[in-house]
Amino acid sequence: MKYVIVSGGVLSGLGKGVTASSIGVLLKSAGLRVTSIKIDPYLNSDAGTMSPFEHGEVFVLDDGGEVDLDLGNYERFLDLNLARDNNLTTGKIYSKVIEAERRGDYLGKTVQVIPHVTDAVQDWIEDVAKLSADGSNASPDVCIVELGGTVGDIESAPYLEALRQFQFRVGRENVTFVHVSLVPVMGPVGEQKTKPTQHTVKELMGLGITPDVLVCRSSKPLTQETRDKLAAFCHVDSKAVFSTHDVPNIYHVPLMLEEQGFCNILGIDCNKTEILSDWKKMAHHLDQLEDEVHIAMVGKYTDLSDAYLSVIKSLQHAAIAVDRKLRIDWIEASDIEENKDSDAWSLLKNAHGVLVPGGFGDRGIEGKILAAQYARENNVPYLGICLGLQVATIEFCRNVLGISDATSTEFDPDAANPAVIFMPEISKTHLGGTMRLGSRPTIFQVDDCVTRRLYGGQAQVDERHRHRYEINPDLVEQIEQAGLKFVGKDESGLRCEIFELENHPFFIGVQYHPEFKSRPGRPSPPFLGLLLASSGQELP
Ligand code: GLN
Repeated sequence: MKYVIVSGGVLSGLGKGVTASSIGVLLKSAGLRVTSIKIDPYLNSDAGTMSPFEHGEVFVLDDGGEVDLDLGNYERFLDLNLARDNNLTTGKIYSKVIEAERRGDYLGKTVQVIPHVTDAVQDWIEDVAKLSADGSNASPDVCIVELGGTVGDIESAPYLEALRQFQFRVGRENVTFVHVSLVPVMGPVGEQKTKPTQHTVKELMGLGITPDVLVCRSSKPLTQETRDKLAAFCHVDSKAVFSTHDVPNIYHVPLMLEEQGFCNILGIDCNKTEILSDWKKMAHHLDQLEDEVHIAMVGKYTDLSDAYLSVIKSLQHAAIAVDRKLRIDWIEASDIEENKDSDAWSLLKNAHGVLVPGGFGDRGIEGKILAAQYARENNVPYLGICLGLQVATIEFCRNVLGISDATSTEFDPDAANPAVIFMPEISKTHLGGTMRLGSRPTIFQVDDCVTRRLYGGQAQVDERHRHRYEINPDLVEQIEQAGLKFVGKDESGLRCEIFELENHPFFIGVQYHPEFKSRPGRPSPPFLGLLLASSGQELP
């Protein structure tokens, strides 16, 4: 087993996750089996209880793990299905150590960060690295370990110490340390400044880790002079200094690393498979798209695109497949509530398609309901995801069935006419990890419908879930009689998973989150449907 350990310096937001996944693409293109572990030094057990405002989207795995959004990057770039243990947090590692202490495993010893926590971190990495993540059942050849945060943070210190020790545990020749840093460009001539990188490498070396490779984020490609200077001051080979400068789309990142000789540094032949040449085609195809398709995203965190990262990626995958340049018009749901002449309304009216993504809580709900009504009444393509399915159903109950106070018990626990209700099996006291989570089957209830055709005609689809509320089963018959058909349900045949509206070009809602399984080159079917319909192309 080989390890690529990726750390970050200077500041956050340098695209460490994308860099690490891109290195994975190169390894994969050399025919190697790759897996990844993301370390998040926060004390939360998982990302499930964290607000998208603070930390971006909560990514959901097949096994129901609620994890950091970087795992989404790995799944998409490397076409993996990771498990919850591929995201290591301080919450998880300390619980494990404390449980072991209570059991008496360390009897007689003082339990300490070194060696007990650092050993537990190393054991975790070794155990999880072995698990197959590509569906082959074979153990991976390489594990990419990405350490979240920035070197120098107090909370990441135990991990850096564990990783320092790890190089001796598994052999220095089996580990490549990659440090991702920033090279700012200053002054009228655009001088590339190396000092921040010099400082962060010094800090890393002070902790006992010597980086083998530097990846420097900058606006322009690094000059040879900058590379030489960094090599001299940071104790790396100048051939091992890479630049990740601004590119038109992120699919260029693996290509740009390859062009600068990253595969030579790793000692691999990236042309062993077609992966990199397919990747090249996709990156250039995306650059050349001209005809725009406008999708209105009606949400709650619209000024923070990380909050909907997988939805954006899925729209992008689908847009490439239908040959359109994607333009997302962000609409803050509460802005629609105000007045019909607002900018929000004009964006909505000019969009080719409307998407209402998942969400929690009642802020902006009436705006989302209005967006669904607008799309339904004006034959505008609509995709509702999770909460987006729920609000469209509430709208339908109010304005078609005439149940004017229809709502969800999430917004009004004492609602007289709930169209959406709390699921019976869900905990009312614990918020962490207690939703209906992870991969669950949806069984099509009809032999033929648009969604089923989009999924290639299969009778059942497995998609990932994250919700506490569901469509009120008592209303299903009435809703269906009026034309909103629940064409997909769970194994019990009672819980609604997919709806389709009759006599509408494309009005689909899904209780699950299809965005977590979309891949570049293999767009998620509901997104593909939305993009086909929104660009005036024929649906299957
Ligand atoms: N808040 C809703 C529920 O819990 C929708 C969840 C979501 O959109 N992920 O059911």
